[in-house]
Amino acid sequence: MKKGMIIAIDGPAGVGKSTVCKLLAKHLGYAYLDTGAMYRAMAWSAIAENLNLDDESEIARRLELLPLRFTIENGALSIFYKEKRLDDELRQPEISVRASHISQLKCVRDYLTRCQRQLGERGGIVAEGRDMTTVVFPDAPVRVYLTADLKARTERRFLEYRNKGIAADRAGLEAQIKARDEADEQRALAPLRATPGVRVVDTSHMNISEVVTQLMVLIPLETAEKDASIRG
Ligand code: C5P
Repeated sequence: MKKGMIIAIDGPAGVGKSTVCKLLAKHLGYAYLDTGAMYRAMAWSAIAENLNLDDESEIARRLELLPLRFTIENGALSIFYKEKRLDDELRQPEISVRASHISQLKCVRDYLTRCQRQLGERGGIVAEGRDMTTVVFPDAPVRVYLTADLKARTERRFLEYRNKGIAADRAGLEAQIKARDEADEQRALAPLRATPGVRVVDTSHMNISEVVTQLMVLIPLETAEKDASIRG
Protein backbone atom coordinates (compact mmCIF):
# COMPACT_ATOMS: atom_id res chain seq x y z
CA MET A 1 0.00 0.00 0.00
CA LYS A 2 1.19 3.46 -0.86
CA LYS A 3 2.50 5.73 1.90
CA GLY A 4 0.56 8.90 2.32
CA MET A 5 -1.69 11.02 4.43
CA ILE A 6 -4.84 10.31 6.38
CA ILE A 7 -8.10 11.41 4.81
CA ALA A 8 -10.84 11.56 7.45
CA ILE A 9 -14.48 11.45 6.36
CA ASP A 10 -17.58 11.51 8.55
CA GLY A 11 -21.28 11.57 7.82
CA PRO A 12 -24.67 10.16 8.74
CA ALA A 13 -26.14 6.77 7.80
CA GLY A 14 -26.94 6.19 4.14
CA VAL A 15 -24.97 9.17 2.82
CA GLY A 16 -22.88 6.90 0.60
CA LYS A 17 -19.63 7.17 2.56
CA SER A 18 -18.58 3.58 1.93
CA THR A 19 -19.01 3.69 -1.83
CA VAL A 20 -17.35 7.08 -2.16
CA CYS A 21 -14.49 6.32 0.23
CA LYS A 22 -13.74 2.97 -1.41
CA LEU A 23 -13.49 4.68 -4.79
CA LEU A 24 -11.41 7.53 -3.43
CA ALA A 25 -9.00 5.09 -1.74
CA LYS A 26 -8.65 3.07 -4.93
CA HIS A 27 -8.01 6.23 -6.90
CA LEU A 28 -5.23 7.31 -4.54
CA GLY A 29 -3.75 3.84 -3.95
CA TYR A 30 -4.68 4.19 -0.27
CA ALA A 31 -6.26 1.71 2.12
CA TYR A 32 -9.93 2.08 2.95
CA LEU A 33 -10.88 1.97 6.63
CA ASP A 34 -14.58 1.39 7.31
CA THR A 35 -14.84 2.10 11.04
CA GLY A 36 -18.61 1.48 11.08
CA ALA A 37 -17.78 -2.16 10.29
CA MET A 38 -15.66 -2.24 13.46
CA TYR A 39 -18.62 -1.10 15.59
CA ARG A 40 -20.83 -3.59 13.77
CA ALA A 41 -18.29 -6.38 14.40
CA MET A 42 -18.17 -5.46 18.05
CA ALA A 43 -21.98 -5.72 18.26
CA TRP A 44 -22.02 -8.96 16.25
CA SER A 45 -19.37 -10.65 18.37
CA ALA A 46 -20.91 -9.42 21.63
CA ILE A 47 -24.11 -11.17 20.55
CA ALA A 48 -22.17 -14.28 19.47
CA GLU A 49 -20.52 -14.35 22.90
CA ASN A 50 -23.85 -13.84 24.69
CA LEU A 51 -22.79 -10.56 26.27
CA ASN A 52 -25.49 -8.32 27.62
CA LEU A 53 -25.26 -5.18 25.47
CA ASP A 54 -26.85 -3.13 28.25
CA ASP A 55 -24.25 -4.14 30.81
CA GLU A 56 -21.30 -1.80 30.30
CA SER A 57 -19.19 -3.35 33.04
CA GLU A 58 -19.52 -6.83 31.49
CA ILE A 59 -18.64 -5.44 28.05
CA ALA A 60 -15.68 -3.52 29.50
CA ARG A 61 -14.37 -6.67 31.18
CA ARG A 62 -14.68 -8.91 28.13
CA LEU A 63 -14.00 -6.41 25.33
CA GLU A 64 -10.31 -6.96 24.73
CA LEU A 65 -10.70 -10.72 25.15
CA LEU A 66 -13.21 -11.03 22.33
CA PRO A 67 -11.71 -13.19 19.56
CA LEU A 68 -11.91 -10.28 17.11
CA ARG A 69 -9.06 -9.19 14.88
CA PHE A 70 -8.83 -6.13 12.64
CA THR A 71 -6.23 -5.97 9.85
CA ILE A 72 -5.68 -4.11 6.63
CA GLU A 73 -5.37 -6.58 3.76
CA ASN A 74 -5.22 -5.74 0.08
CA GLY A 75 -6.16 -2.14 0.69
CA ALA A 76 -9.17 -2.71 2.92
CA LEU A 77 -10.12 -3.59 6.46
CA SER A 78 -10.57 -7.31 7.15
CA ILE A 79 -12.34 -8.41 10.30
CA PHE A 80 -12.02 -11.89 11.76
CA TYR A 81 -14.00 -13.49 14.57
CA LYS A 82 -11.85 -16.50 15.45
CA GLU A 83 -11.05 -17.83 11.95
CA LYS A 84 -14.27 -16.55 10.42
CA ARG A 85 -14.10 -13.48 8.20
CA LEU A 86 -17.02 -11.17 8.99
CA ASP A 87 -18.61 -9.50 6.03
CA ASP A 88 -22.26 -9.60 4.90
CA GLU A 89 -23.52 -10.64 8.34
CA LEU A 90 -22.43 -7.22 9.59
CA ARG A 91 -24.73 -5.43 7.15
CA GLN A 92 -27.96 -6.88 8.55
CA PRO A 93 -30.40 -4.16 9.72
CA GLU A 94 -30.48 -5.62 13.23
CA ILE A 95 -26.71 -5.23 13.52
CA SER A 96 -26.99 -1.56 12.43
CA VAL A 97 -29.27 -0.90 15.38
CA ARG A 98 -27.09 -2.88 17.83
CA ALA A 99 -23.94 -1.16 16.58
CA SER A 100 -25.49 2.25 17.15
CA HIS A 101 -26.39 1.12 20.67
CA ILE A 102 -22.99 -0.31 21.58
CA SER A 103 -21.18 2.68 20.07
CA GLN A 104 -22.48 4.82 22.93
CA LEU A 105 -20.33 2.96 25.45
CA LYS A 106 -17.10 4.68 26.46
CA CYS A 107 -15.14 1.43 26.80
CA VAL A 108 -16.09 0.43 23.24
CA ARG A 109 -15.24 3.85 21.77
CA ASP A 110 -11.90 4.03 23.58
CA TYR A 111 -10.94 0.55 22.47
CA LEU A 112 -11.92 1.03 18.83
CA THR A 113 -10.30 4.48 18.70
CA ARG A 114 -7.01 2.84 19.71
CA CYS A 115 -7.43 0.10 17.10
CA GLN A 116 -8.27 2.69 14.41
CA ARG A 117 -5.23 4.85 15.20
CA GLN A 118 -3.04 1.77 15.04
CA LEU A 119 -4.47 0.83 11.65
CA GLY A 120 -3.85 4.39 10.45
CA GLU A 121 -0.38 4.64 11.93
CA ARG A 122 1.47 4.44 8.64
CA GLY A 123 -0.85 6.84 6.82
CA GLY A 124 -2.16 6.25 3.32
CA ILE A 125 -5.74 5.66 4.42
CA VAL A 126 -9.20 6.95 3.77
CA ALA A 127 -10.95 6.52 7.13
CA GLU A 128 -14.70 6.91 7.33
CA GLY A 129 -17.14 6.88 10.22
CA ARG A 130 -18.77 9.26 12.67
CA ASP A 131 -15.79 10.61 14.61
CA MET A 132 -12.85 10.40 12.22
CA THR A 133 -12.64 14.18 11.81
CA THR A 134 -13.34 15.01 15.45
CA VAL A 135 -11.78 12.38 17.72
CA VAL A 136 -9.78 9.68 15.96
CA PHE A 137 -7.85 11.77 13.39
CA PRO A 138 -8.58 15.43 14.26
CA ASP A 139 -5.24 16.51 12.75
CA ALA A 140 -5.75 14.78 9.41
CA PRO A 141 -4.79 17.14 6.57
CA VAL A 142 -8.06 16.43 4.74
CA ARG A 143 -11.25 16.34 6.82
CA VAL A 144 -14.67 16.13 5.20
CA TYR A 145 -18.24 15.86 6.44
CA LEU A 146 -20.48 14.26 3.82
CA THR A 147 -24.18 14.93 4.16
CA ALA A 148 -27.44 14.51 2.20
CA ASP A 149 -31.09 15.02 3.03
CA LEU A 150 -33.04 12.19 4.66
CA LYS A 151 -35.04 11.34 1.50
CA ALA A 152 -31.89 10.94 -0.61
CA ARG A 153 -30.21 8.82 2.06
CA THR A 154 -33.26 6.58 2.49
CA GLU A 155 -33.41 5.99 -1.26
CA ARG A 156 -29.70 5.11 -1.40
CA ARG A 157 -30.03 2.64 1.47
CA PHE A 158 -33.19 1.17 -0.07
CA LEU A 159 -31.40 0.50 -3.37
CA GLU A 160 -28.37 -0.92 -1.54
CA TYR A 161 -30.58 -3.38 0.39
CA ARG A 162 -32.56 -4.29 -2.72
CA ASN A 163 -29.33 -5.10 -4.59
CA LYS A 164 -28.19 -7.28 -1.70
CA GLY A 165 -31.56 -9.06 -1.43
CA ILE A 166 -32.24 -7.66 2.07
CA ALA A 167 -35.97 -7.06 2.61
CA ALA A 168 -36.79 -3.43 3.43
CA ASP A 169 -39.50 -0.84 2.91
CA ARG A 170 -38.83 2.86 2.45
CA ALA A 171 -40.91 4.10 5.39
CA GLY A 172 -39.30 1.63 7.78
CA LEU A 173 -35.81 2.49 6.52
CA GLU A 174 -36.43 6.22 6.80
CA ALA A 175 -37.55 5.80 10.41
CA GLN A 176 -34.53 3.64 11.21
CA ILE A 177 -32.05 6.07 9.61
CA LYS A 178 -33.65 9.01 11.41
CA ALA A 179 -33.46 7.21 14.75
CA ARG A 180 -29.81 6.30 14.15
CA ASP A 181 -28.98 9.90 13.15
CA GLU A 182 -30.52 11.16 16.36
CA ALA A 183 -28.69 8.60 18.47
CA ASP A 184 -25.35 9.34 16.73
CA GLU A 185 -25.79 13.13 16.88
CA GLN A 186 -27.07 13.35 20.42
CA ARG A 187 -24.86 10.88 22.25
CA ALA A 188 -22.59 12.29 24.91
CA LEU A 189 -19.40 10.71 23.56
CA ALA A 190 -17.96 11.57 20.14
CA PRO A 191 -21.29 12.75 18.68
CA LEU A 192 -21.58 12.97 14.92
CA ARG A 193 -21.12 16.59 13.88
CA ALA A 194 -19.33 18.85 11.43
CA THR A 195 -16.88 20.83 13.54
CA PRO A 196 -15.28 24.09 12.39
CA GLY A 197 -12.48 23.47 9.92
CA VAL A 198 -14.15 20.41 8.45
CA ARG A 199 -15.29 20.77 4.83
CA VAL A 200 -19.01 20.03 4.47
CA VAL A 201 -20.09 18.46 1.16
CA ASP A 202 -23.85 18.13 0.55
CA THR A 203 -24.31 15.20 -1.84
CA SER A 204 -28.15 15.26 -2.01
CA HIS A 205 -28.09 16.11 -5.70
CA MET A 206 -24.77 14.57 -6.72
CA ASN A 207 -23.96 11.18 -8.14
CA ILE A 208 -21.06 9.09 -6.86
CA SER A 209 -18.50 10.19 -9.40
CA GLU A 210 -19.37 13.85 -8.81
CA VAL A 211 -18.75 13.37 -5.10
CA VAL A 212 -15.41 11.62 -5.71
CA THR A 213 -14.35 14.40 -8.11
CA GLN A 214 -15.28 17.02 -5.54
CA LEU A 215 -13.24 15.24 -2.86
CA MET A 216 -10.23 14.93 -5.15
CA VAL A 217 -10.27 18.72 -5.47
CA LEU A 218 -9.79 19.00 -1.71
CA ILE A 219 -6.74 16.76 -1.64
CA PRO A 220 -3.45 18.66 -1.71
CA LEU A 221 -1.94 18.91 -5.15
CA GLU A 222 1.23 17.07 -4.17
CA THR A 223 -0.78 13.91 -3.45
CA ALA A 224 -2.87 14.27 -6.57
CA GLU A 225 0.29 14.58 -8.67
CA LYS A 226 1.81 11.45 -7.14
CA ASP A 227 -1.49 9.75 -7.70
CA ALA A 228 -1.58 10.73 -11.35
CA SER A 229 1.95 9.40 -11.85
CA ILE A 230 0.93 6.06 -10.33
CA ARG A 231 -2.14 5.80 -12.54
CA GLY A 232 -0.24 6.91 -15.59
O1 C5P B 1 -21.28 3.47 9.20
P1 C5P B 1 -22.16 2.37 9.72
O2 C5P B 1 -23.60 2.55 9.43
O3 C5P B 1 -21.67 1.02 9.33
O4 C5P B 1 -21.99 2.46 11.33
C1 C5P B 1 -22.77 1.68 12.22
C2 C5P B 1 -22.91 2.42 13.54
O5 C5P B 1 -21.64 2.45 14.20
C3 C5P B 1 -23.33 3.89 13.42
O6 C5P B 1 -24.73 4.09 13.44
C4 C5P B 1 -22.68 4.54 14.61
O7 C5P B 1 -23.54 4.46 15.74
C5 C5P B 1 -21.47 3.68 14.89
N1 C5P B 1 -20.23 4.32 14.48
C6 C5P B 1 -19.64 5.20 15.36
N2 C5P B 1 -18.43 5.75 15.06
C7 C5P B 1 -17.81 5.45 13.92
C8 C5P B 1 -18.41 4.59 12.98
C9 C5P B 1 -19.64 4.05 13.28
O8 C5P B 1 -20.19 5.48 16.41
N3 C5P B 1 -16.61 5.98 13.68
